[in-house]
Amino acid sequence: MPDIVISEAMDLRAVESLKCDFEVVYDPDLVNRPSEIVALVDNALALIVRNQTQVNSSILEKARKLKALGRLGVGLDNIDLIACKSKGVEVFLATGANTTSVAELVIGAMIALVRKAFLLTEDVKLGKWPRLELGGREVMGLSLGFIGFGAISRAVASRAQCLGMDLYGTDPFVSYSDPIWVEYGVKPLSFVNLLKVSDVITIHVPLEKSTEYLIDQMAIESMKTGAVLINTSRGRIVSEIDMISALHSGKLSGAFLDVFENEPVIKGSRFDGVPNLILSPHIGAMTEQGNARVSKMVAENISNFLKEG
Ligand code: NAD
Repeated sequence: MPDIVISEAMDLRAVESLKCDFEVVYDPDLVNRPSEIVALVDNALALIVRNQTQVNSSILEKARKLKALGRLGVGLDNIDLIACKSKGVEVFLATGANTTSVAELVIGAMIALVRKAFLLTEDVKLGKWPRLELGGREVMGLSLGFIGFGAISRAVASRAQCLGMDLYGTDPFVSYSDPIWVEYGVKPLSFVNLLKVSDVITIHVPLEKSTEYLIDQMAIESMKTGAVLINTSRGRIVSEIDMISALHSGKLSGAFLDVFENEPVIKGSRFDGVPNLILSPHIGAMTEQGNARVSKMVAENISNFLKEG
């Protein structure tokens, strides 16, 4: 029986490093076979997951010897933290290790949507030459609003500063007098005022009761007409239905989602035919470097903990 079970994609060098000291089962497809995870963790000391494996009571009740849970990333919404605590399972995150990957994705999506250059690729391939439809804007001089001002927002802010954007942020847990705002050149605002002034809004908050459907029809109504919305945090923070109708009406001029209310998105989904919408399959953290950093950090922490306690 394995000491460590890894149920989602992990950098192979980190997997190999664990194999030096432990019996490891690594199968990135295990996430799609939850009953096998339950059977495998029966005797395991550690389980390592990304964001898709639901670490709930059905897994934890069976994991009689589990001491450690590795999370290849930072969001904790797929993990029952209360159950982990009551079972004495220590949870290890990869804080900061994928921040750059997400920040660069946000900058790329923002420029793509504001500039509009890539939105009609299929038409260009078909010889339609849609030059008039693609009259986009420069990002320089536009306002960028951060919902949540933690690690990823700060990484985006330092890059957006170089692009000449005006930066605004809202975060109930970072006081207006905190010097961090000045350090990153970001003006703190209330949630509603941020919605009103921002040309581009990017969301970087954890999914919790207080952030669920934070961006709904009412929030979108408060935004500038033609605003761009970017969500790389968690799907259920944005009401997809409200976002889609705002894209159809032109209230939003563009949107980018890396995360969805239901993942994976299925064929014939609600997104079919929605204009000015770009999507990626929850790959914010999945760059070569991000994956290597996250995997190394989690492997080292789990290994040290199992060896030394
Ligand atoms: P972080 O903890 O550094 O920052 C989150 C910030 O949100 C904190 O400053 C917190 O005070 C703030 N916040 C909490 N509730 C809020 C609210 N109601 N309104 C405004 N601000 C609020 O986290 P981070 O590293 O910046 O990551 C943010 C989220 O991004 C993670 O929780 C995770 O869900 C998501 N994420 C996604 C990917 C991906 O692959 N797409 C990768 C990494 C992280």
